[in-house]
Amino acid sequence: MNRTHTCNALRPADAGQTVTLVGWVDTKRDLGGVTFIDLRDREGLTQVVFNPGANQEVAQRLKTESVIQITGKVTARSAETVNPKLGTGAVEVLAATIEVHNVCADLPFPMDDDKADKVNEDLRLEYRFLDLRRPRNIGLLKLRAKAARAIRAELDGQDFLEIETPTLFKSTPEGAREFLVPSRTNPGEFYALTQSPQQYKQMLMVAGVERYYQMARCYRDEDLRADRQPEFTQVDLEMSFIDREDMYKLIEGILKRTWKETLGVDIPTPFPRMSYQEAMDRFGIDKPDTRFAMEIQDLTGLFKNSAFKVFQGAANTPGSVVRAINAKGLADLTQGELTNLETIAKSQGAKGLAFIKVEGGEWKSPITKFFSEEEKAALKATLKIEDGDIIFFAAAPWEQASNVLGRIRLESAALLKAKGRLSLPTDQYNFLWVIEFPLMLWDEEEKRYLSAHHPFTAPVKEDEPLLATDPAKVRGQHYDIVLNGVELGGGSIRIHNPAVQKRVFEDILKIPQDMVESRFGYMLKAFAYGAPPHGGIALGFDRVVAMLAGRSSIRDILAFPKNQNGRDLMADCPSPVTPKQLRDLRIRTVEEEKKA
Ligand code: ASP
Repeated sequence: MNRTHTCNALRPADAGQTVTLVGWVDTKRDLGGVTFIDLRDREGLTQVVFNPGANQEVAQRLKTESVIQITGKVTARSAETVNPKLGTGAVEVLAATIEVHNVCADLPFPMDDDKADKVNEDLRLEYRFLDLRRPRNIGLLKLRAKAARAIRAELDGQDFLEIETPTLFKSTPEGAREFLVPSRTNPGEFYALTQSPQQYKQMLMVAGVERYYQMARCYRDEDLRADRQPEFTQVDLEMSFIDREDMYKLIEGILKRTWKETLGVDIPTPFPRMSYQEAMDRFGIDKPDTRFAMEIQDLTGLFKNSAFKVFQGAANTPGSVVRAINAKGLADLTQGELTNLETIAKSQGAKGLAFIKVEGGEWKSPITKFFSEEEKAALKATLKIEDGDIIFFAAAPWEQASNVLGRIRLESAALLKAKGRLSLPTDQYNFLWVIEFPLMLWDEEEKRYLSAHHPFTAPVKEDEPLLATDPAKVRGQHYDIVLNGVELGGGSIRIHNPAVQKRVFEDILKIPQDMVESRFGYMLKAFAYGAPPHGGIALGFDRVVAMLAGRSSIRDILAFPKNQNGRDLMADCPSPVTPKQLRDLRIRTVEEEKKA
């Protein structure tokens, strides 16, 4: 190394030593004939002093972010010039030599966090190498590496084998949309990039591996959101001879260790558990943020004989409910905010969003005139209504009512937070297992059942007989781990009996037999050769790191994220390829087709 120390190493005890430092010019100041440079490397900053002379002239000409190497003597700073905010703040280095390794071009944006954070994200992604160089962002990469270390240490300690599985896999269009890769050596045929190593890890269990894990790269060609990227990393694992309790314990241990080793935070275990039904009933979502209440209240019984026909109708329709939440203290929301909430309700299939605002002791709402005094009194008691509250209703089939109120609850919380009336601390960690999901969900569009998790999930043992009679009632051995309203991961105990697996594919999911054969035939074959009982889970590693970092976008904690449109703006791709490349792959674009 050309350096003797990092820029975060020197302390008063080092005074008198001659040292060599390398790094980037963070800031430069001329003061009283002397030039000061804060030299920065990955670890921190050290102040370097240039007295009048040739070196100072070089230093004065330097642009920030240029790369230099200096040697000089460490001196203690006088008491009034000590900078307590810096690790090296009690010393400085008096430069004796300076070597300029590279000058920096004009910067496309300022590098200090306050200003850089306000710069358009696309510009920062184009210059990601600079954006990452900001100490806070390098810090996020360090945090990520530390979290990976903790997870690996825990799994290695529990005798898991780290095994890489192929990313070029078979197309299995049951799940998310896939990225396809044409095969040059098998013209006209394609691989798909793995959505997850699901099938490979199950094959590893049949192969007798017993405990597998991998920091697995996964690919899904889906529309992007703040917490979604076309490629992402999962802590993917699978175990043989276990039940759900073993999995809860393992994951709680991994997360406990990760939080301790990265943030020094002790998270209490075991985590609470909640059934899917309870999560939907109370919070209207299968990944509830339990940092705040605003729980959904059931009013179906109350409105059975109501004069308000909309509520009375729903209350008397089997499978439908009348429910409400009290957004405490949100009565003064603007018309625009209210309209937005209505739009959200409609996006979930509601016809509108009935509400009651309570202001100055008065219930302001187009619907209260239909309510009897008893109904009002009961509402007031059930929803603990006070001045300043706003009540939102849903009268609909159970699932729709849950979805509507679940979304309105989150949006109301966001509004209350923005108005400073609700605190949702990012350093409060409400972990939660959501369990007992239905195995199948009815898809109205396709008119068939679809797997709630994936088709390899085993039914809960005592529900197995219902597979033939009432698939919708069968619960799956599926578990999701949720933190503050974010799904960190999920998994299941798998089907290991080839006959049951075949029944799920063909009788329940209605996948034609030849398709089952071509897509999953090898799995059914493998299961016939002594498949052990097994189960697994995948944690979204990017989401775990984002939660550790208190960031809402996973783009912040990826070295080179794609932008909202799935583009890598730094390398500028996806990009066109040459006609020869396409010919080699025996692929013709629609444009060429037209020309031909
Ligand atoms: N492969 C599943 C997923 O990616 C996780 C699992 O079941 O282990 O969501």
